[in-house]
Amino acid sequence: MDKALKSCPFCGSKAELKEAHYLESELPYSYVHCTSESCTLNHNTAHFSGNTEAKNSENAVSAWNKRLEIPALHH
Ligand SMILES: [Zn+2]
Repeated sequence: MDKALKSCPFCGSKAELKEAHYLESELPYSYVHCTSESCTLNHNTAHFSGNTEAKNSENAVSAWNKRLEIPALHH
C-alpha cells in the first residue's frame, strides 16, 4: 500500500492514511485525513469499512485522490 496521496484540498498539507478497528466489532476501517491539526479535514473525513484492511485502504486512498466522500467546500 504505497499509493501516493494528493495533498489536502483545503490547506495543501500532507495527507495520511490511517488504519484502525471499530472497538466493539473489531472490524477494520481505513481513512485518509489531513495531517494539519487546524484543518477541517484533520478529523472530518469518510471512513471505509466492510472489506479487508487492504481493500478499505485502497478505497480510502482512491476516494481521497478523487476528492470523493470528503466534505465539499462551501462556496
Ligand atoms: Zn488540510
